[in-house]
Amino acid sequence: MSEGNLETFDVAVVGGGPAGSTAARELARYGYSVLLLERGDRIKPCGGAIPPRLLRDFEIPESQLVSKAASARVISPKTRSVDMPIEGGFVGMVEREHFDEWLRERAAHDGAEWRSGTFREFGRDDDGTPLIHYRPGVKSSQNREEVTVRARYVLGTDGARSKVAEKAIPDLDEIQSVFAYHEIVETPSTNSEAFDGTRCDVYYQGSVSPDFYGWVFPHGPTASVGVGSAQKGFSLRGAVAHMRANAGLDTQKTVRREGAPLPLRPRKRWDNNRDVLLAGDAAGVVAPASGEGIYYAMTSGHMAAEALQTALATNDARALKMARKRFMRAHGQVFWILGIMQRYWYANDGRRERFVRICKDPDVQRLTWEAYMNKELTRADPLAHARIFFKNIAHLTGVAPV
Ligand SMILES: Cc1cc2nc3c(=O)[nH]c(=O)nc-3n(C[C@H](O)[C@H](O)[C@H](O)COP(=O)(O)OP(=O)(O)OC[C@H]3O[C@@H](n4cnc5c(N)ncnc54)[C@H](O)[C@@H]3O)c2cc1C
Repeated sequence: MSEGNLETFDVAVVGGGPAGSTAARELARYGYSVLLLERGDRIKPCGGAIPPRLLRDFEIPESQLVSKAASARVISPKTRSVDMPIEGGFVGMVEREHFDEWLRERAAHDGAEWRSGTFREFGRDDDGTPLIHYRPGVKSSQNREEVTVRARYVLGTDGARSKVAEKAIPDLDEIQSVFAYHEIVETPSTNSEAFDGTRCDVYYQGSVSPDFYGWVFPHGPTASVGVGSAQKGFSLRGAVAHMRANAGLDTQKTVRREGAPLPLRPRKRWDNNRDVLLAGDAAGVVAPASGEGIYYAMTSGHMAAEALQTALATNDARALKMARKRFMRAHGQVFWILGIMQRYWYANDGRRERFVRICKDPDVQRLTWEAYMNKELTRADPLAHARIFFKNIAHLTGVAPV
């Protein structure tokens, strides 16, 4: 087919994870023609923990949740544990195998053209319009020869190792990440002190992770036992084996073992000043310290859709910058605080011990859960903030006992 005859979309969204499906759906609902290209060759490795605000903001029915955690147990290097019940809320758990497919189906239902295929190359036709070259996937009805389509704009939501970022955005900053690995295991038929299907366990121990943390997240019939670290050579599998033994899950059947990079800092630039934009992991938007990425992927996908909509309506590519600007205005402060927390509290076991200790504080528990569930820094209770501030100072300066 000559370039003049190529199929043309207003926007080609590459990658149908939470960021891409959110953006594709919104753009289709604005009335634009949208290609949603997803290679669909594997289940995204993910602990699947999401806050209630995500359900509200993105109209996700509770039927997508495989479980709800009502508390978290944080465990220190000296194996002291602190239980943090969630007052009036929960941590929701989704299975990415079903959740991602459901999001793509919804985007397609609302008008996006969802195709199975792997993005290979970015190019331009004679008048400079972006070209997307992709290989149809095995699920595709097309033969598997490379296909080329044109798009006025391209949105790269193809994850932490984004090929769109690599091929279409020159001089991008390196993405900073940890590598996260988890095992999906079958859960015991009854709860015990070691494992409870309504509780998340979080390990702050240098032996589990020298620079991040380990987790046991309940998913109904299965659980995700995982850990992250940026340290080369650190045995993530050894850490998971330790947590499985601790939770009494060592003899339970292993369903899957898998891992992926987890970005920990938003990229400085998300667009090429012209017609390509990034969102989600491709733009680096995962919260430092917690590694929470699904909510931020969907939020950045939403903001990318709005920026693209403005660019399409005005023919002004400067609108693309609005996606990052709006995201950083809404979440930059929280990311900055979490970045400091990660650098400080995860630096050594002495500090981790203190960190777990301050988690005992009812003010800390309440404000932590409110911030997690609602994605806003609570302003309502200045006295609680002040108390935490002074306790933090006491811990940071070593005045408070361990
Ligand atoms: C082990 C682990 C545990 C995690 N646990 C949690 C958690 O509990 N809670 C939480 O909020 N976050 C968690 N995260 C982070 C979260 O998974 C990500 O931040 C989130 O999935 C990002 O969404 P996204 O849409 O940007 O990218 P992804 O979910 O990575 O989606 C990218 C999509 O692009 C597709 N794709 C890639 N390349 C191509 C290509 N060339 N052509 C076509 N399609 C392509 C992929 O198949 C994929 O579907 C975890 C991450 C890891 C690795």
